[in-house]
Amino acid sequence: MNSYEKLSPDKDYVRVPKERLFSFVVRVLENIGVPEGDAEIVADNLVMADLRGVESHGVQRLKRYVKGIKSGGVNVHPRIRILREGPSYALVDGDEGLGQVVGRFAMGLAIEKAERSGIGVVIARNSNHYGIAGYYSLMAAERDMIGISMTNSRPLVAPTGGVERFLGTNPISIAAPTHGRPFLLDMATSIVPIGKLEVYRRKGKPIPEGWAINERGEVTTNVREVFSGGALLPLGGLGELLGGHKGYGLSLMVDVLTGVLSGGTWSRHVGNTEEKGSEVDHFFMAINTGNFTPPEEFKSRMDAMISELKASKKHPHFKRIWVHGEKGFLTMETRLRLGIPIYAGVIRELNQIGEETGAGRLVEEGD
Ligand code: NDP
Repeated sequence: MNSYEKLSPDKDYVRVPKERLFSFVVRVLENIGVPEGDAEIVADNLVMADLRGVESHGVQRLKRYVKGIKSGGVNVHPRIRILREGPSYALVDGDEGLGQVVGRFAMGLAIEKAERSGIGVVIARNSNHYGIAGYYSLMAAERDMIGISMTNSRPLVAPTGGVERFLGTNPISIAAPTHGRPFLLDMATSIVPIGKLEVYRRKGKPIPEGWAINERGEVTTNVREVFSGGALLPLGGLGELLGGHKGYGLSLMVDVLTGVLSGGTWSRHVGNTEEKGSEVDHFFMAINTGNFTPPEEFKSRMDAMISELKASKKHPHFKRIWVHGEKGFLTMETRLRLGIPIYAGVIRELNQIGEETGAGRLVEEGD
C-alpha cells in the first residue's frame, strides 16, 4: 500500500497510535479538572492536527494548555452564553473557556442555523487558543455545507513597513464538500505560524530566510532573535518589501470579523492562553449549498473543477498538482495505519506532564 506523509519522520520521532495519544491527552486534561466531553474535544483537535501533519498545532501545544488551566487563565467550567441571536447569526461569550470547546459549540450553532435558515454566522468572544482553524470548517463540510473559520491570536507579526508585533498569525480556513475528500484550505496569514518556529527551536535548527525579522527589522534565521523581540512576517512579501501587504490585509480582515465585530479585541491586545484574560475571538460561518445549487450537484461541480485542475499542464519540476487539504488527508490515512510520529523532545515533555498530572507516561522507555 502507498504511504504518504507531509514530512518523513526521522530517528528522532516515535510513532504513537492515535488512540493512545488521544486517551493520554484526555486523561491529562481530566486530571486537572476539564470535564470528560470537553477534554475529548480538545484531544480530538490536537490529535487531528498531528494526524494531518500539522506538528505546530498538535500535542506539542498541550503544555501551554495545562499551564493556562493551572494558572487560572483558562476556565474549565465556562458558562458559554449566547448574548444575541437571530435566525442566521449569533454572538457568543466563551467565558474564557478552552478555545476548542467554545469553537465547537459556536460552529455547531452556525451549522444548526444554516440548516434552518440557509446560512449561519456565529462570532465568539472571550475565548482562548482554538488550535487548527480547519477543525471547525471541516465540521460544516462533513454536513455537506461550506464552512469558514477564523480566529485572532496574540501579536507576533509586523505589518508591512513595520517592525513591531501588532498582528496575530490569524488563520483562515474554508472547507467545501466533494464526493471524495473535502477541499480544505487552512492557513496562517503570516508566512508561517509561531508553532513552526517552536518546532525549529526544539530541534536547534535555523529557520529559513524570509520567515521573520529581528528586533531591528533585519531578516533573521536565528529563532532566538525572533522570540526575543523579533516578529514574523505576513504572507506574500517579495524582494525588499518585507512582509506582504496581502497577508497583512487578510490578517486585519480576520481581526475585523472576529474581535472588532464581536466587541472583543484585536490581535495587538490578545493575550497568551497561559495567562488570564487572553480574550481570543473567533468567527464561524456555515453556508447551506442547497440555497444556491442542489447539494449533489454542488459536489459534482467541485469534483469536476478539481479533476480539471489536476489534469492541467504541470511545470517540469512537478509531478502533480495538489489541492488544499489533500496532503493532510493522505498523511492522516498513513498515520492512522502506522501511528503518529511525535518528536522525541515532545515525548519527553508529555511524559513529564503525564507524571505531574497523574495521567501516567505516554511512552515507556524501550517502547
Ligand atoms: P500550511 O502552509 O502548512 O498549509 C496551508 C494550506 O495550503 C493548507 O490548506 C495545505 O493543505 C495547503 N497546501 C500545502 N501545500 C500545498 C500545495 N502544494 N498545493 C495546494 N495546497 C497546498 O499551513 P500553515 O503553516 O499556514 O498553518 C498551519 C496550521 O496552523 C493551520 O491549521 C492553522 O489553522 C493553524 N494556525 C492556528 C493559529 C491559532 O491561533 N489558532 C494561528 C496560526 C495558524 P494540506 O493540509 O493538505 O497540507
